[in-house]
Amino acid sequence: MIHRFLPDTLRDIVAHRGERMPCPHASGCEMFAQFKLQSMLRIWQIKYCEGDYARCVRYQTAASGQPVAPSLLPNGSLLKPRVAGR
Ligand code: SF4
Repeated sequence: MIHRFLPDTLRDIVAHRGERMPCPHASGCEMFAQFKLQSMLRIWQIKYCEGDYARCVRYQTAASGQPVAPSLLPNGSLLKPRVAGR
């Protein structure tokens, strides 16, 4: 029973993998196109889109009927705009 040795958060993810529903907004989420580095996007997707979308500020904002800025991140901060030439 390796689960005994995992921190609570990891234990919860392992225990409930396969049970979690993906975010219903995932197919049209504008945030995905904002990322140049796919590895950075994957971190957000694992934590929120495939993990616990109800905690995503983008999801909460859309669910309340408010417009959602493409640069709004799931934790409520804003993605810095890309600088031309970089
Ligand atoms: S970023 Fe938020 S709103 Fe967009 S797909 Fe992921 S959980 Fe859903």
